[in-house]
Amino acid sequence: MVIHVLDQSTINKIAAGEVIDRPASIVKELIENSFDANSDYIKIDIENGGIDKIKISDNGSGMDREDCILSIKRHTTSKISSEFDLYNINSFGFRGEALGSISEISDLKIITKREDDEIGTLMESQGGKIKNIEPIICKTGTTIEVTNLFFNMPVKKDYLKSSEIEFSQILKIISKYALIKKEVAIILTHNGKEIINSQKTDNFLNKVIFLLGVDVGRNLIEINYKEEGLIITGFISKPSLTRADKTEQSVYVNQRYVKDRIISQAVYDAYDTLLFINRHPIFILNIQINSSLIDVNVHPNKEFIKFKNEKEVYEIVYNAIKSTLFKTNLIVDANLNRIENSKINKHYDFSIDKQTNLFKTNDYKIKEDVNLYLREAESQELNKEVFGKLNILGQINKTFIICEAEDGLILFDQHAAEERVNYEKFLNDLKINAIKKQSLIEQKILDLNPEQKNIALYYKQFLSKIGFEFEDFDGNILKLSTIPEIFGRLKSILFVDILNELIKEKKNIINNEIESRIIKFACKASVKAGDELTKEELKKLIKDLEKCENPFSCPHGRPTTIKLSISELEKKFKRTGW
Ligand code: ADP
Ligand code: MG
Repeated sequence: MVIHVLDQSTINKIAAGEVIDRPASIVKELIENSFDANSDYIKIDIENGGIDKIKISDNGSGMDREDCILSIKRHTTSKISSEFDLYNINSFGFRGEALGSISEISDLKIITKREDDEIGTLMESQGGKIKNIEPIICKTGTTIEVTNLFFNMPVKKDYLKSSEIEFSQILKIISKYALIKKEVAIILTHNGKEIINSQKTDNFLNKVIFLLGVDVGRNLIEINYKEEGLIITGFISKPSLTRADKTEQSVYVNQRYVKDRIISQAVYDAYDTLLFINRHPIFILNIQINSSLIDVNVHPNKEFIKFKNEKEVYEIVYNAIKSTLFKTNLIVDANLNRIENSKINKHYDFSIDKQTNLFKTNDYKIKEDVNLYLREAESQELNKEVFGKLNILGQINKTFIICEAEDGLILFDQHAAEERVNYEKFLNDLKINAIKKQSLIEQKILDLNPEQKNIALYYKQFLSKIGFEFEDFDGNILKLSTIPEIFGRLKSILFVDILNELIKEKKNIINNEIESRIIKFACKASVKAGDELTKEELKKLIKDLEKCENPFSCPHGRPTTIKLSISELEKKFKRTGW
């Protein structure tokens, strides 16, 4: 016989691992319990990224002695009592797993008292076993302290990252909740230093400004929309304020932070052509929906949910965003700008705006509109020599450069080319420690969110090496004094993009691979979509590209240039055999 039943301790640890994989997941579960207990004050004290200690104190409903003992058992909850309740969940927790799992893999201390009780309870456990329980004089509410994390799961412990990286995960979760829970004061400290002090307010925008920074706050549009029993409130960024990624987007359903593809898709579809390629809006959306119309029990950490009627939710969110943008006069005519099913990202309106700027050359005879359908990149056929002998004809869609070569037609992707040029130059400069920094005439005050500030300070040295120098200042403010010269155009916005990118890294140190990824990223972000260039500028770009070590692809591997030979053209026009 090879099959046997696992012992209870192993079963418990496996189950615990599903819910708890790092300090941040503990913080998430504990803060959700505090919300469920109707607290309006929650203080979170973290030591060493939560690896040494997590302590959460709230002023919520508390527990009596019996409940306290029960709370750390598996599948014990006060929030639902039968299967039917699963379809109408109004609390964050309901699975009754969190405290059980946390206690299983740590030393846990709970101090708790209900309002009507005179005496509270102190309970200490290790590995799920109660070691001590005694009455204690304490305030109403609950304090939970987690230490000795993963003491009995060495492998999990080894997987933990540095204190800063673990803390940045905690900060992310606390920031998301602080943003939406405006009726709760939330204080977060790390190693004794106060990182977030988010006070109660009845004004949502106050929270947004506090947590996302003034720079973002200024460029937000408020949403307040009702349709079919769905209420959508929150903020979206004006199209002039975008990011290179989605880190500053938050969606909440009934105040629960969720990751939802449908809602996010509806938002992007509503922005439509107002967004440049590869740029992302900032948004904070709270969707209030009858809890019987969603299923939150689809994932152990409850970050994903399922809507009963996805299509309807999509449409309502789409309408909410679209009408808000429309009201703000950002969309001149809702229909004019919407090219149904179009996959082309136009950089201008071909019919109204200027025409494509084909240069008027006498020597070349492109007289008719030619519809070229290029099947595949033929860059491998090219060699560098060809660059010198090109005759530049013009630009299409402010994106592609058309040139005539001796034996055919050559197209460049202007942005891919620019990225390649910037990337090689930047990398070379970095190698010899010669990144040129451009001093800003006036220090740029950046009012960031707590996560961004945290990561900026953590990677200060690296950021300085690539050209960004700054000083720490009060609150979430940094004073930026230099930027890399090469990125003259996007400046401080790019800096924030890089911070967001670093937040995603979750690595303890910057190694070569991360370094080059960040630089690739920066180069991509530095290239502005839809730039109309003069013929001289186009010429210079092609010259610079020629000097590159690897001119035929952008740093992300897309081709910079493709060629259509005369013989290929002849084939397409069915001239072969003449
Ligand atoms: P769930 O939240 O899914 O019910 P948990 O394991 O997180 O399960 O918590 C178990 C129970 O312990 C809760 O249902 C609640 O009754 C109680 N509890 C946990 N944390 C608190 C708290 N901060 N204040 C009051 N009661 C709490
Ligand atoms: Mg819970």
